[in-house]
Amino acid sequence: MQVARGAYETLAFSRPNGDPSLLPVRAQLGRRLLQSRPHRQVTSTLTRRLQSTEASAPLTPPPPPPGSSRWNRILQTTGRITLFTVVTAGGLFYYVAHKDRTPGPQEPHDPTKKTLVVLGSGWGATSLLESLDTEEYNVFVISPRNYFLFTPLLPSVATGTLSAKSIIQPTRYMTRHKKRQVTVIEASATDVDPVNKIVQFKDTSEVQGLVSSTAMKYDYLVYAVGAETQTFNIPGVRENACFMKELDDAERMQRRFLDCLESAAFPGQSKEEVDRLLHMVVVGGGPTGVELSGELHDFLEDDLRSWYPELVDSIKITLVEALPSVLPMFSKQLIDYTESTFKEAKIDIMTKTMVKEIKEKSVVLQMPDRSIREVPCGMVVWAAGNTLRGVTRELMAKLPNEQTNRRGITVDESLRMKGADGIFAIGDCTATSYAPTAQVAAQEGAYLARVFKQLAKRDALRAELEELKGQTAPEGEQERKVRVETLESQVAKTDKTRPFKYSHQGSLAYIGSDKAIADLPFFSSGNLATAGVATYLFWRSAYLSKLFSLRNRALVANDWIKVKIFGRDVSRE
Ligand SMILES: Cc1cc2nc3c(=O)[nH]c(=O)nc-3n(C[C@H](O)[C@H](O)[C@H](O)COP(=O)(O)OP(=O)(O)OC[C@H]3O[C@@H](n4cnc5c(N)ncnc54)[C@H](O)[C@@H]3O)c2cc1C
Repeated sequence: MQVARGAYETLAFSRPNGDPSLLPVRAQLGRRLLQSRPHRQVTSTLTRRLQSTEASAPLTPPPPPPGSSRWNRILQTTGRITLFTVVTAGGLFYYVAHKDRTPGPQEPHDPTKKTLVVLGSGWGATSLLESLDTEEYNVFVISPRNYFLFTPLLPSVATGTLSAKSIIQPTRYMTRHKKRQVTVIEASATDVDPVNKIVQFKDTSEVQGLVSSTAMKYDYLVYAVGAETQTFNIPGVRENACFMKELDDAERMQRRFLDCLESAAFPGQSKEEVDRLLHMVVVGGGPTGVELSGELHDFLEDDLRSWYPELVDSIKITLVEALPSVLPMFSKQLIDYTESTFKEAKIDIMTKTMVKEIKEKSVVLQMPDRSIREVPCGMVVWAAGNTLRGVTRELMAKLPNEQTNRRGITVDESLRMKGADGIFAIGDCTATSYAPTAQVAAQEGAYLARVFKQLAKRDALRAELEELKGQTAPEGEQERKVRVETLESQVAKTDKTRPFKYSHQGSLAYIGSDKAIADLPFFSSGNLATAGVATYLFWRSAYLSKLFSLRNRALVANDWIKVKIFGRDVSRE
C-alpha cells in the first residue's frame, strides 16, 4: 500500500509539462483511487483518467480563499520593498565604509602656500578640519591625543554602556581624506611666540624617539586646546577624586567603581564599610554630573541587581551642587522633572552644598546652613567646571594689555586673538559670551574654515596686486591701472569678514531610567521643553547623527544593542 501511494504521488509530480496548480488535484484523485481498488488496477485507471482529463477540458484550480490573493500581493510587495531597502542600505553602508577606509593619494605640501597650524584635536579643531579646504594651506595639526573624543557620551563609557573606542575617531581618518596632505603630530604645544609666530611642541607620550621636542613657524595659528578640570584648589581633589574630562578618566572611574563593588563583596566586611564603599558621590550638577548619576543608576538597576544582589540595596548615589539647583541652563520645569526623576531613582541631590575637602575615604561638605559634615564614600567623581591650561595662561601673559580676562582668551568678532597677528582662538580656551560647549566650539571651527577660505582668496588677490604694481610696461598702462583698481576693491572686500554668530540648537541631557530632557529653540518665539522616554529616543538619535563618522555611528548603535541584549560588562580590567 505504501509503495502504491508513492507511485501515485510520483506520477502526479513528475509530469514534465503539467500545470503545477493541478498537482494537488491529481494527488488527491490518486489517493481516492488507492483507497478503493487493488494496486495494479488502480495504476492503470489513474493513468487513463489523467490522460483523458488532459485531453478533455483543463482542470480549473480550486478558487483561492477569499482575500488571500490580495494578502499575497501585499506580502510580496512588502517583501520586495524590504529586500530592496536592505540591499540598497547594505550597499550604501559598504560603499561609505570602504571609502572611509581607503583614502586616495593626496597632494604634497606646497612651499608657496601659507602654513596653518592647528593646536588641538577636540570639537573646535575637528570641526575646522572637517570643513577646511586644505588645498590653500600647508596644514599641521598638533595635539597630545591623536583622536577626536565625542565628550557628550563620555559618561556612558564610564558606566560600560559604550566601549571607549566607539566614541573616538582618529584624526588621521579625517585628514587623510583631504585633498592636500595634512600633517598630524602627536605632541603638546609648550609655548607660543605670538611676535615671531613660532610654536614649540613636545612629545609627551610614554614612548619617545631621539627627537621629542621642536618648533615650527606658522602664518596662521588656530588655538583650540580646550580647558582642563577646575579644582578650585580644594584639597584632595586631584589626589582622591576621579575626573570626567578625558577617555582615561572614564576608564579609571569604571575601574574604581567596580573595585568598590568587589571590595564591598569581600567576606567579613562590616555594614558601615559596605555602605561607605558603595556610596558614590558626584560633584557638579551640570549636564555631565547629572548624566553620570543617571547612567550609574541605570547600571545599578539593569545589571548590578543581577550580579550583586546582596549589595545592590546598599549602593547610594549623591549629586552635590554648590548652586541652588542642578542644570541651571535648563528651564525650571525640566529642572523639576529631573529632580523628581532622581527622587524616584533614589539619587540624592544636595544643592547649595560645597565640597571643602576630598579625603581618601570621605568627602567633607559645607551644608546649606554652613555646618560642616564629613560623609564617608567609596568614590568621588569631580565634574565641576573648567579652567585654563598652563600654556594658554603663558600665551595670554605675553599680551598683557589685550589679554586681561582671567576666564580665557579674548577674541574679536572674527575669533582673532586680540593683540596677536595670525592667531585665531576657539572653544573652551576663549572667554566669550557663549557657554563652553561642544556646540559653540564646533560652530566656531566651521566658521573659521570659511574665514580661511576668504583669507586664501584675499592673499591670492594681494599677491596678484603686488605683482601688477611692480610691472612697468608703458603700452598696457591703462589696462594695468584698471586691473589694479579692480584688485584693490576686491582685496578691500575680502578684508572684511562676517562676524561669527552662534546659533543655539538646544540643550539635551540624559537623566537615567530611559529618560532625557531637551530645551529646544522653537521658531523665534521661545523654547520647547520636553522630557521623558520619547525625548530619550530623540537624544539618542541626535547624538548618533552628531557623531563625526559612519564608523562611530555603527559602533555606538552596536554597543547600545549589545547592552540591551547582554547587559553591561562587570569585569574589572
Ligand atoms: C563629560 C563631558 C560631557 C560634555 N557634554 C556636552 C554636551 O552634551 N553638549 C555640549 O555642547 N558640550 C558638552 N561638553 C563640553 C564640550 O566637550 C566642550 O565644550 C568642548 O569639548 C570644547 O571644545 P574645544 O575644542 O574647545 O576643546 P576640547 O574638545 O577639549 O579639545 C581640546 C583639544 O586640545 C588638545 N590639547 C590639550 N592641550 C594641548 C596642548 N598643550 N597643545 C595642543 N593640543 C592640546 C586636547 O588633547 C584636545 O584634543 C561636555 C564635556 C565633557 C567633559
